[in-house]
Amino acid sequence: MTKTIAYATKAYATTGPAIPLAAATIDRRQPTAGDVQIQIQFCGVCHSDLHFARNEWGFTQYPAVPGHEIVGRVTAVGSGVKKFKVGDTVGVGCLVDSCRTCPDCRAGLEQFCPDMVMTYGSMDKHLNAPTFGGYAQSIVVTEEFVLRMPANLNLAAAAPLLCAGITTYSPLKHWKVGPGTKVGIVGLGGLGHMGVKFARAFGAHVVLFTTSLGKVADGQRLGAHEVVFSKDERQMAAHANSFDFILDAVSAQHDINAYLNLLKRDGNLTLVGAPEKPLPVAAFPLIFKRRSFSGSLIGGLPETQEMLDFCGKHNITCDIELIHMDQINTAYERMLKSDVKYRFVIDMATL
Ligand code: NAP
Ligand code: ZN
Ligand code: ZN
Repeated sequence: MTKTIAYATKAYATTGPAIPLAAATIDRRQPTAGDVQIQIQFCGVCHSDLHFARNEWGFTQYPAVPGHEIVGRVTAVGSGVKKFKVGDTVGVGCLVDSCRTCPDCRAGLEQFCPDMVMTYGSMDKHLNAPTFGGYAQSIVVTEEFVLRMPANLNLAAAAPLLCAGITTYSPLKHWKVGPGTKVGIVGLGGLGHMGVKFARAFGAHVVLFTTSLGKVADGQRLGAHEVVFSKDERQMAAHANSFDFILDAVSAQHDINAYLNLLKRDGNLTLVGAPEKPLPVAAFPLIFKRRSFSGSLIGGLPETQEMLDFCGKHNITCDIELIHMDQINTAYERMLKSDVKYRFVIDMATL
């Protein structure tokens, strides 16, 4: 096997759970025959970036470079690349590789592959070094994990589709949300606001649950038919036993049982939020009415491209606040206070 050569690229990294992100230099591999090199133009800021930067999930290795909502321009392609050429506008989400042969990969569900390589926090098979995310000037990704961006969408506002978009689109599709279903979306953050937009676009009756009174009007503007202030028990009780499906996109500790009680018989609550600590689930809300509680992880490559194309066709993008790279630490603090409308996106030209 020939040795893969690395090159240096500018990035923003953290060196410990309590250390602010700062300018750094990282190694990327020189594009191999199957690789696409991308100049990153915009990168969304997912709450997972914050969980990871602060080692809330317990597997972070430092230095760490977050960022998995990546869009940019192709600057080089390897000799074997067929799908992309220099100048194309492309995206990269949470995955940059997988084994390609296991049943999950063959089903286009690469996110469940036992050997999936995450955009950050995994090992680069070529360099045998940690993968680094999109808070950087460039990235090199095997062509199968590069996505085509619809030309009609604002590129900065489309960046968060690569994680917030697919993470909400996929479970709504899997649980067959559409006309005639009543759907709840819990938490109006980056994921939640896309959940509202997709559930509405799929034709469901959409109810948003928020802990922020200041987001009620936005909930309706974004597509919710009803908005529930979830700290008001009376408003919650009014929806008891009525939902076919609830998507929970909350990043922190909260009472999941309060939402299970809102499901109909055989209704499902899917958790996409990934809080640091376990969420206690009581038996009774599940065993009465045969309700189910499940999870969902991003989406595979084919479905991610399908979601991007759907957004292109229906003109769906994210509501974003564009920031400079050096505002990232403040952005994290605001995200912790649920003070984001509704996704920070970094203008990588400011790196
Ligand atoms: P975000 O933008 O910070 O939004 C989270 C929202 O949760 C907040 O805006 C807030 O909405 C609500 N919230 C926050 N703290 C709360 C609390 N203590 N009690 C009740 N509600 C609270 O985060 P995000 O980027 O959308 O990510 C959400 C979660 O999904 C994170 O844990 C992230 O790691 C995870 N995630 C999972 C996947 C996956 O594949 N499963 C993919 C991406 C992200 P309101 O103000 O409306 O209440
Ligand atoms: Zn994410
Ligand atoms: Zn696999």
